[in-house]
Amino acid sequence: RLEIQGLMRRFGGREVVSDVSLSIAAGQVSCLLGPSGCGKSTTLRLIAGVDMPDQGVIRVDGRPIVDARTRVPPEERGIGLMFQDFALFPHLTVSQNVAFGLPRHAPDRQGRVAELLERVGMTRHADKHPHELSGGEQQRVALARALAPRPGIMLMDEPFSGLDDRLRDDIRDETLAVLKAEGTAVLLVTHEPSEAMRMADEILLMRDGRIVQSGAPYTIYNNPVDLRAAAFFSDLN
Ligand code: ATP
Ligand code: MG
Repeated sequence: RLEIQGLMRRFGGREVVSDVSLSIAAGQVSCLLGPSGCGKSTTLRLIAGVDMPDQGVIRVDGRPIVDARTRVPPEERGIGLMFQDFALFPHLTVSQNVAFGLPRHAPDRQGRVAELLERVGMTRHADKHPHELSGGEQQRVALARALAPRPGIMLMDEPFSGLDDRLRDDIRDETLAVLKAEGTAVLLVTHEPSEAMRMADEILLMRDGRIVQSGAPYTIYNNPVDLRAAAFFSDLN
């Protein structure tokens, strides 16, 4: 479970993230939705630990990982990451790329790798190198690698935007199904209302660094908080 209270980040005197609070339970997908520049990626970077907030508290399963006194390093947060330009290691095979996500002395490393490859449908590509795979196949390997250490929380920043339309829908649905099956709490960033409507259990509508509305997709769609929110959803039909 991921809980955030009063998260704030300033760059050069400007608040890019202002008083952001949210909570995501195991097996739930929350979409952080908003226009370009509203602070989505900055919020994810603060949660991942590659940047520090000026204020706010972040808890994972009740344990503070960031507050006024605490700063747990990124690799000890139990948080997985998938970004748009996910990079597989070109010189490693599919299996080796996935194994890289596991601690060196993890018990039954090969068994876990095989299980993950099975789960993302890549078993028969186990010994290939990334350049021998399509974009969608690479994406699935990246997912398997991100899932390897069993993160309780997965942060995803527009991870599907590099894929063509038809492939994107398939990979997106498969990915979210795998994450739900693993019981992972997912925070997915997107600037596409249609993507959020399709994927989210909850939408967090962000604007100018703030979450201006949150709720179930059709609740927000049917009761937008103001005209700008209505206009943002208006290209959906
Ligand atoms: P997009 O949909 O285009 O990816 P976003 O919602 O992810 O947008 P952010 O990347 O979080 O937006 O950026 C929010 C604002 O903060 C932008 O105005 C950006 O220029 C600014 N910003 C982000 N990082 C920094 C930084 N390191 N220094 C200064 N300004 C920054
Ligand atoms: Mg961004």
